[in-house]
Amino acid sequence: MKLAQRRSLINSSGIRKVFDLAAKMKDPINLSIGLPDFDVPDVVKESAIGAIRGGKNRYTLTAGTPQLRQAVRDYYTARSVPHDDVMIASGTSGALFLVFLALLDPGDDVLVPDPYFVMYDALIRFLGANVIAVDTYPDFQITRERLEKAWTPRTKMIVLNSPSNPTGRVYTEEECRIAVQFAEEKGIEILSDEIYEPFTYDGEFVSPARFAKAPIVISGLSKTVAMTGWRLGWIAGPTDLIKACIDIQQYTFVCAPSIAQEAAIEGMKFDMRPICDDYRGRRDLIYNGLVERGYQVAKPSGAFYIFPEAPGGDGGEFVLRAIDNNLLVVPGNVFSRRNSNFRISYAATREKIQAGLDVLAKLNPKA
Ligand code: PMP
Repeated sequence: MKLAQRRSLINSSGIRKVFDLAAKMKDPINLSIGLPDFDVPDVVKESAIGAIRGGKNRYTLTAGTPQLRQAVRDYYTARSVPHDDVMIASGTSGALFLVFLALLDPGDDVLVPDPYFVMYDALIRFLGANVIAVDTYPDFQITRERLEKAWTPRTKMIVLNSPSNPTGRVYTEEECRIAVQFAEEKGIEILSDEIYEPFTYDGEFVSPARFAKAPIVISGLSKTVAMTGWRLGWIAGPTDLIKACIDIQQYTFVCAPSIAQEAAIEGMKFDMRPICDDYRGRRDLIYNGLVERGYQVAKPSGAFYIFPEAPGGDGGEFVLRAIDNNLLVVPGNVFSRRNSNFRISYAATREKIQAGLDVLAKLNPKA
C-alpha cells in the first residue's frame, strides 16, 4: 500500500528492537516501565463503576464535562498558574497532539530540551515542524546559554517537561524563570508538560507556567492515579488556543472517555503524599546504589526515572549487555540525539530495584 509520506516521519525501530529482544526474555528484571506500580485507587474505581451503572456512557461535551473542567480550573487557580480556559483531552498524549496540531505549521522550529519524552520528537516531526534539541547534558539543567545556542528565528514554541521523563530532573525556580523570560523575550509559546507533578521529592514542585503571561499547561491522571488505560488528560491555556483545540477534538477524538472523566473528579482529590514518600525512598535506593557501583549519574528529584551514563559510552550496546543479563532498561537514544546514557524506571518493587543493581554492578568494570 502506498502510505502517506508523513507516515515515514514516525519511526519506532530503535525502541522496537529492544522490545523484540525483551519479548524473548523469561521473567526479566524489568526496569523499563513508564507507569506507576500501584493500581488505580478504589475510590476512583468505584466512581467509574458508578458512572457506568448511572448511564454516563454517552458522548460528553467536546470540551469535557462542566464538573471536571471546573475541577481543573480550580486546580490551576489554587496553584497561581495563569489560564483563561481549560479542556479535557484523551490523555496527556491527546492533549499534546491537539496543541501541536493547533499551533504548528510545517517548517516551524520547536525547542525541546534534550533528553526529551519520545512523543515530542515524533509528533512535532509528524506535522512537518522541526525539533531543535537543546542539549542539556550532563546535568540536564536549563540555562540561558543553552537556549540561546539552540534558538532559530523560526522558533515557534518551547516544550518544557518537569519532572522530566527520562531524566527525573525537576526544574528549580530559577530555571523556570530563565526559560519563561527567554521565551517571552523571543515571543515564542511555552508548553509545560506537568504529568509527573505529584512525583516531586525534594521540596515543592514549581511550575514554569506560574511565571508566564500566557502559558499552555498539559497534564493528566495516567501517572497520578495510574489510570494509564483510561485516557484522561487536559489542557489549560489562552482562550484562542483552547477554542482551536476543542474544534480539532470535535472532528477527531470527539471527547475524552466519559467514564474516565467522571472518575477523574475523585482522582484529582486523591492524596498522593504517601505514594510520593514511598517513591522518594526508591529514588534514594537506586541513586545511592548507582553511585556506589561507580555510575556517573545526575540525582533526579522527580518522576520515577533515572538516566545514568552507560559505562563505555554506548547506551545501545550497554542495554544489549543488560538484556543478556536478564535486566531490561531503555537505551538513551530513544530520548535523545545522544546515545551515551540509558533510562532506568524505578516504578518497581525494592526487590526488583535491588536485583537490577546487582546486575548493574556486574556490568560496570569501574565498580
Ligand atoms: N508526557 C510525558 C512526559 C510522559 O512521560 C507521558 C507518558 N509516558 C505522557 C506525557 C503521556 O501520558 P498519557 O497520554 O498516558 O496521559
